[in-house]
Amino acid sequence: MQMRQCAFCGKRIAAHLNQCPFCREMQPLQPQVRLSRTSGGAGGRQTRRGLLYMLLAGVIYYFAAGYAKPLEIPVAIQPAVVSYLCPLLFLGGLGLTLYGLILKAKS
Ligand SMILES: [Zn+2]
Repeated sequence: MQMRQCAFCGKRIAAHLNQCPFCREMQPLQPQVRLSRTSGGAGGRQTRRGLLYMLLAGVIYYFAAGYAKPLEIPVAIQPAVVSYLCPLLFLGGLGLTLYGLILKAKS
């Protein structure tokens, strides 16, 4: 069980209590707990976004490289898009995923 300190008497109380059992003072929401929760959520968001970018890069590459021949896309894709944008998008997504995982591991 997570413990925290009472803001009024300084005794250690369970983190989920919103009233101190010793001095009966209402406890303010713990900023530390909230902070770690938000950064954990941010890490998860980063990871999901990174995975999305990697998926997007894969999809663009798949179509642009002509693997989906029967499903030809109406717009002509510049070769530069395939050779620069896709690896860039993929690496960006990979970086974002790793960044998210690091954020998650830290919190
Ligand atoms: Zn107290």
